[in-house]
Amino acid sequence: MKPPHLADVGLYLKPTLVNNVESYACVPYILRYGGEAFKSLGTQDGGGTKLICLTGHVKNRGLYEVNLGTPLQEILYSEEYGGGSSTGRPLKFIHFGGQSGPIGSVDQLEDCIYSYDGMWDEGLSVGSGAIVVMDDSVSIIDYLTQVAAFFAHESCGKCTPCRIGTLRILEMLEKFQQGMGMPGDIERFHAMLTHVTQLSACGLGQSASTAIFSAMQAFPEEFEQVIDTKAEKVQEVMW
Ligand code: SF4
Repeated sequence: MKPPHLADVGLYLKPTLVNNVESYACVPYILRYGGEAFKSLGTQDGGGTKLICLTGHVKNRGLYEVNLGTPLQEILYSEEYGGGSSTGRPLKFIHFGGQSGPIGSVDQLEDCIYSYDGMWDEGLSVGSGAIVVMDDSVSIIDYLTQVAAFFAHESCGKCTPCRIGTLRILEMLEKFQQGMGMPGDIERFHAMLTHVTQLSACGLGQSASTAIFSAMQAFPEEFEQVIDTKAEKVQEVMW
């Protein structure tokens, strides 16, 4: 129950700030060199630095502090950061900001700047700073099935669109994995994702479709491939 608020009465009954550790980690630099100096490390729209967690098929996986405004290609390929593909295969897609974040195609992001506005311009987001990179051996459908399994597992079950919807999303992707999609399934899938996004009560359900929507835009051909066109006749009978 509020009040009292933490800013008035918190830890040891003293005024208390609850903030991200990453934000606190910026404070010593700002106190030592000043706010303007910190800001100048980044871009106009977002000053300073960002912690990124670079994982997947890059040589140098790890946690890095990058200046906002660093070119994405530098993060992926320079020896200072990712160092390029760890498998020798071309890098294919990137999942930004954790499970709730969007997916982009490496080929389509050649000029992308890693900053809040730069990512936004590409329809992407910085989010938590997680950057998962996958090479071209990974099917987008397989990857998204794992993402959907996470949301189905994490749904608390309080509201129906998320409790049932995340399961239906997972089932549909598993069907696609087996190449058993039917004509019209992509449209039905799209409607299902929209419903879960718009009708869920909290951020978990509302962001369960973000990776899928963005992947459908970046790799439409991979969704078309999972539709069994011969299934048309069966569908007509079923409907
Ligand atoms: S949207 Fe949020 S409240 Fe609703 S079931 Fe999912 S996790 Fe629970």
